[in-house]
This record gives sequence, structure tokens and C-alpha cells, in this order.
Amino acid sequence: MFEALEKIRREALKRVDAVAENAELEAVRVEYLGRKGRLTEKLRRLGSLPPEDRPRAGALANEIKGDIQRRLTARAAELSAPRREVPQLDYTLPGRRFEVHRRHPVNQVIDELVDIFCDLGFTTAEGPLIEDEYHNFDALNTPADHPARDEKDTLYLEGCDLLLRTETSPVQIRTLETTKPPVRIIAPGRCYRNDTADARHYPVFHQIEGLWIDKGVSFAHLKGVLMEFARALFGSKTRVRFRPHFFPFTEPSAEIESTCPACGGDGCRTCSGTGWIELGGSGMVDPAVLEPMGVDTEMFTGFAFGIGPERIAMVRYGIDDIRLFYENDVRFLEQF
Ligand SMILES: [Zn+2]
Repeated sequence: MFEALEKIRREALKRVDAVAENAELEAVRVEYLGRKGRLTEKLRRLGSLPPEDRPRAGALANEIKGDIQRRLTARAAELSAPRREVPQLDYTLPGRRFEVHRRHPVNQVIDELVDIFCDLGFTTAEGPLIEDEYHNFDALNTPADHPARDEKDTLYLEGCDLLLRTETSPVQIRTLETTKPPVRIIAPGRCYRNDTADARHYPVFHQIEGLWIDKGVSFAHLKGVLMEFARALFGSKTRVRFRPHFFPFTEPSAEIESTCPACGGDGCRTCSGTGWIELGGSGMVDPAVLEPMGVDTEMFTGFAFGIGPERIAMVRYGIDDIRLFYENDVRFLEQF
């Protein structure tokens, strides 16, 4: 009998300690102390013990009942107490660096160029990166045998007549297809050419295309806009010059150059000692481009230009290899 009582005590206390929720405590109490509980049964059977054992067994059973009750009350209090989360922190570890992400240097330059042209009254336009030959070449007055169309220069998509646009100029055509003049847009975006990557060339690059078609727009307007642009970009002392060139879709055409911002025109490493840097191409839009778009070329004239943001970023930051922009080396990118 005594041994059986001790066994009940051990088991009951163990059960109480293992309970994880308040609701389970009642089940344990009923199992041992309820009317049909295991300890209650023993108490009921005390009468069958030899008379000399009864007082000691009765005292032990009551002691055990008290023990179980106290442990039940204590466990209930433990389970009701709000749990305190102990943070698993090691205060001796070095702090985690908070990385401030930034825009790619070429995108920073593009944003700046867009701001400058928007101040001059231009709005932005976009076009697809995958173009057809019509928008990329035909509509831009590029002859069928022009070398730019060759697979050595242009990336064609296999099994269809599509290509990756070689310049942002097709956006001019797409805009004129849907918008009647006056038109004053810039189209920043990615272009692709079948170039081998070297310090000056990369198969992917960016351009900002500009187009202004209105009554009475002349080459003087073109010069004025691009001079304002160069001064906003490189400072008020910047000079701009135009060198005759040829582009299929403009006549006359000119390359735009500005004085080198690194040396102010005296000649340095950035400008290869010439004092001038090339910004892009420009010209008066050829009537042969405008007329198929339904533009009345007796009434409307206009100019177009294309500017290379990579070139500007290279000049500004003294970068001598265009490949650095596209290698995604964080040590390079985080300097901007
Ligand atoms: Zn220079």
C-alpha cells in the first residue's frame, strides 16, 4: 500500500510538470484527485488495511494529495505568466552593414539628360526593343544595301524578320505614326549592335533620341537646343561645335561635339588631347522620312539627334573602358 501511494505521487507530479496548457491540468487533477481518481480510490480502500497501518497510510495519502494540489496550482501560475522572449543576441559580433543601393551610373546620366530636355519642353516617349526592319531601317530612309543592315552589325532574331533595335530612332517613326505635329519628344533607351566588346564598344548601349517637328524649326533651333543641353550638362563655359556628317534620315547631318569638361578645351587624356568630346549625331529630318508619315513638309520641318549616355558618363567620371558599366562589379558600381 505505501509503495503504491509513493508510485502515485511520483507519477502524478511528473504528469503535472509535463502539462503544456492550462486546460490539460484539470484532466490530470481529475485523474488523480477526482471522485474516481487514482488517489481517491486508495483513500477509500484504507478501511481494508490492518488497523495498525491505517493512521500512517491515511497521513501519507493526505500528504500526497496536498503535494499534487500544490504542484497543480504552481504549474497553473507558471502557464498563465506572460512568456518573456530572451533574444538570441551576440553583442560582441560586429554590426551588420546597411547597404544603401543606388542607381547605375549610366541610369543616373540618363535621368539627368531627361531632366535637362524636359526643362527645354520635351516629353519622353518609348518604343519596343525588338523592332522590325521597316521601323528600324526602311522608314528611316536606310537603303536596302546599307552596311548597317548587315548581320555583322545588326542582331537579327532567328526564324523571323525581327531584330534588336540598333538605335532609338525607330521611336521617332512610331511617334509620327500616332501623333500629328507639332512633336517634341526624347526617347531614352537601350540599343543593340553586333559589336565585339572592347574598351569603346559594347553590344548593348543606350541612346537618347530627340525629335522636334514644328512650323519653322530650323538648324538654328537644333544648335540652340544642343548648346543649352551641353551647358546644362557640363557648365556655362562649355562650347559646342557641329561637324558635317552623314546619316540616312537627316539632311544636313552633323556630329555634335562639346569642349571637354575635364580640361575646358585645353586637351587632356579624357579628350585624347583634342579639347573636344563627341556627344552624338544630329540633323534636320529628311523630308523622305516625314512625307510617308503624312507630315506636310511644306509646312513642317524639324530636327533629330541621338546622344550617348555611356560616353557622357565615361567623360564625366574619367572611365576609359565601357565594359566596366556592364560587368556588374559592385566595387566599381558603388563608387557612384
Ligand atoms: Zn580634355
